[in-house]
Parts: sequence; structure tokens; C-alpha cells
Amino acid sequence: MTNTEQDRWSRVKGRLRSSVGEDVYSSWFARMDLETVQEQSVRLSVPTRFLKSWIQAHYAERVLTCWQAEMPEVHRIDLTVRTCARCAVPTQETAGPVVKTSHDVVPPVRSDGRPAPELRATAIAPVSATHDALGGSPLDPRLTFGSFVIGRANTLAHAAARQVAEGRRGDSVMFNPLYIHAGVGLGKTHLLQAITWAGNSGTEERKVLYLTAEKFMYGFVAALKTQTALAFKEALRGIDVLVIDDLQFLQGKSTQVEFCHTLNALIDAGRQVVIAADRPPSDLELFDDRVRSRLACGLVVEMGNLGEELRLGILKSRVAAAKAHHASFDVPEPVLDYLARTIVHNGRDLEGAINRLLAHSKLNNAPVTLDMAEREIRDLIRPQEPKRIKIEDIQRVVARQYNVSRSDLLSSRRTANIVRPRQVAMYLAKTLTLRSLPEIGRRFGGRDHTTVLHAVRKIEALVSKDVALSEEVESLKRQLQE
Ligand code: ADP
Ligand code: MG
Repeated sequence: MTNTEQDRWSRVKGRLRSSVGEDVYSSWFARMDLETVQEQSVRLSVPTRFLKSWIQAHYAERVLTCWQAEMPEVHRIDLTVRTCARCAVPTQETAGPVVKTSHDVVPPVRSDGRPAPELRATAIAPVSATHDALGGSPLDPRLTFGSFVIGRANTLAHAAARQVAEGRRGDSVMFNPLYIHAGVGLGKTHLLQAITWAGNSGTEERKVLYLTAEKFMYGFVAALKTQTALAFKEALRGIDVLVIDDLQFLQGKSTQVEFCHTLNALIDAGRQVVIAADRPPSDLELFDDRVRSRLACGLVVEMGNLGEELRLGILKSRVAAAKAHHASFDVPEPVLDYLARTIVHNGRDLEGAINRLLAHSKLNNAPVTLDMAEREIRDLIRPQEPKRIKIEDIQRVVARQYNVSRSDLLSSRRTANIVRPRQVAMYLAKTLTLRSLPEIGRRFGGRDHTTVLHAVRKIEALVSKDVALSEEVESLKRQLQE
């Protein structure tokens, strides 16, 4: 692709971003790539069929309009789905000791991508029995779709989770894996367990297995180690949807090898994989590059902070749940408003607050009042944590400030108008995030850590002398911390 095309594409993306807003943009368009521009038609690609059909249904006109603003001759946008490499299993040398069981597990796939017959799921038992028998982690009966409150922060994650839960056996999978990431207490586990409950309780006979990463490591893998390859196949055969929570805790090379096999086997067989973690795939530093890219290959969705409205909704749903067992319990509207305004941190504290009010009003046999609420939840009000800044944000803000594209920053081009912004961005990445030099290098188009170090030192030296640059850097920091 030529530089002019690249620039044009950056501008089209800029238009799209301002037209749909940052939230929608990052949900749906962040991973849209330009493939080709040919006379009147433009070919774009996205990583999943789900994104493709959603964009076609909701944003086709908008995308075309944004192109036409840059290139009036364009009359047609073709949207295709990029294919994704399998997750290459880390090699023996890098992987350390490997469990011997699962090498032959990768099942045959038919040319149409459907699971080969022998991997179709078979016998079915009632929900929890199945779940237990497969070694699943315990489920909390309260964490269902019914009690999940939808808001701006989680609309897309919820839609995708629903889609997974409503799938039927043998349906082709719309995106795989579904990867949901968010900070602590923002509803990942709730959504994952909701998928598990819903998936297992439908009329369709499907098996959804929910595992925490720890359980995967110590339970599932341990069981596999003691059994044969055949047993591993058997276990996999029974699973339609594998749900893994808190993937960031998955440690150790040999576990990763198992994870990789499992991922490949299930995805190749058309089975759904759902993952939650506290960071995007690219930030899973302990993971092999190829595993990361496979994880990024399906639908990656971030859930944002709970806004006040969402917090209020969660509180109400918690009160309603508590009322089911304690009919006399009630929390007046002003108290709910107060809680939603003051407990901004996360969903766990909201739950904790309601539990305390319930306990207090039961023990003292007294109704909930604002005074009492203020006293009871004092310690749940935490100072706002400083915002976690991401390398992508730095790249985006720097690119905007210097009027270059993000791909310029990652490219190997060495013209002065790109080299300086790139160095500034690396410098900010080092000073505003906890990422290591090699990690930063990797995120800047696979550069060596010495290049990053050089950039950091260079900018450090310059800002102490160059007032204009120092002001630019300060302004960038402010924009990022806003
Ligand atoms: P995470 O796994 O992301 O750390 P959890 O799923 O454990 O967070 O959520 C923490 C608490 O907040 C749970 O009690 C959960 O039910 C509640 N919660 C979070 N988001 C929502 C939501 N959208 N609707 C209802 N409850 C929520
Ligand atoms: Mg969780």
C-alpha cells in the first residue's frame, strides 16, 4: 500500500472516529484494516464475521460517506474477514517440560470448517452435574444474564456474550475466541458465568465449561497429565463452549502449551472459546507472541468503568435480589443515589455496600437511612486511582499531536517528522506506564530495547534544554491523564 493510501486511510478513520464517537469507534472499527483501493471500490477487512455483519448492518453508509469525503470517486466498500493463523505451540526448547498427552489431540477439520464428526458432543447430563464432572469451577447462581445490568460500558461485551450463550450446537461460530477484558470488579466474571448458566440450561443440549485460569492449571491440566491422550480427547469432545476466567493468572510454559493445544483443538473443531482477563491480549506479557496473536484474532472487547447510571442499576438489582429473601428490606431512592455517586470504584464495593446495609438493618431491626448509609460505607469510598495509561493511547495522542498516523509511528520510516514523534511516544511509554523496554520496543513495530532506551535518553536530554519540546511533552501528558 502506498503512503498516500495509508494517509488517506488514516484520515478516513479520523472522520469515522469523530462521526461515531470514541466508544463506538474503538468497539467496532479499531481493528478494521485497509486492504486495497481500486478505482471506485475500497476493500476493508475485519477479524471476525461478527464485526463484519454488524458493521454492514449498522455502519455501511457511514463508512462509505467517510471515504467519499476523502475520495469522491469511491462508490463501493467491500468488507472481508481476515483469516487468522493457528496458535503455534511454543517449541520444546522454549517451553520446558511438556505434558505428553495432547499432541495428537488436534482434531481433523472438514474443509467447510465444521467440526469433524468425531468431535461432535455426545452424552448429556444435567447442568451442574456435567459441569462438576468435567472439573469446572463452582458457579455463583446469582451471576446470570437476568441480574446483569447493561450500560454504555458493557453493551458490546453483553451483546457478544448473549450471542455465544444463544448459539446452538453445530452453528458456525461468529467469532472465536471471544476475549473480554476489563479492570477489577467491572463484571467479567458475572458475564462469563451468565454465559455458562444460560448455555447449560437451554433446551439445546450443550455443555459449557467454566474454568478459572487456576483451575485450568491445577485441575484440568493435572487431570490430563495422569490420563491418556484418549482421555483428553474425550474430555474435549464433551465441551461446546470453554470459558476461562482471569487468563492473566495462567502461568508456566507447560500450562501454556496445554492451553495452546486446547485452544487450537476447540477452535479448529468449531467450538466456542470465551476468555476474560484484566488486560488486552497484547499486554499478556508472560504469553508467547503467537498465543497472543491467536487470542487477538477473534472478538476483543473491553468493558469500561461503570458509569453512575450503571452503578445505580447494579445497586437496584442487588436490592431486588436481597428483597427476595428479606421482604422487609428496602433502600430508599436518595440512599441509592448517594451510593451510586460515592462508590465509584467497582461492582464489588457496590455489592459490599448493599450487604452491609442489609446486615445492619437486620441486626438493629431498623430501616436504612442516609445517615446510616454514610456511616456504614465510609471505608468503601476510595480515592480515585490514577488512570491506567495504555501504550495505544500514547501512540494515538502523539500521532494526533504531530499529525502523523499511528502506523507511521510503528513503521520503519526514518524521516525526521516521524522519528521525533516516535521517540516522544517511546519516552512517554516508559515514563507513564510500567512496561519494560523490550515490551515497549515490541509494541513499537518490533524494535530492539536499545532503540527504546536511546529514544528515552534522547528526549530526556532534550526536554531539559528545549522549552518548546518540553511544553509539548507536558501537554501530551495532560491529554493522557485527563
Ligand atoms: P470482575 O470479574 O470483572 O472482577 P465481577 O464480575 O466479579 O468483576 O463483578 C463484581 C461485582 O459487581 C459482582 O457482584 C457483579 O455481580 C457486580 N457487577 C459488575 N458489573 C455488573 C453489571 N453490569 N450488572 C450487574 N452486576 C454487576
Ligand atoms: Mg473476576
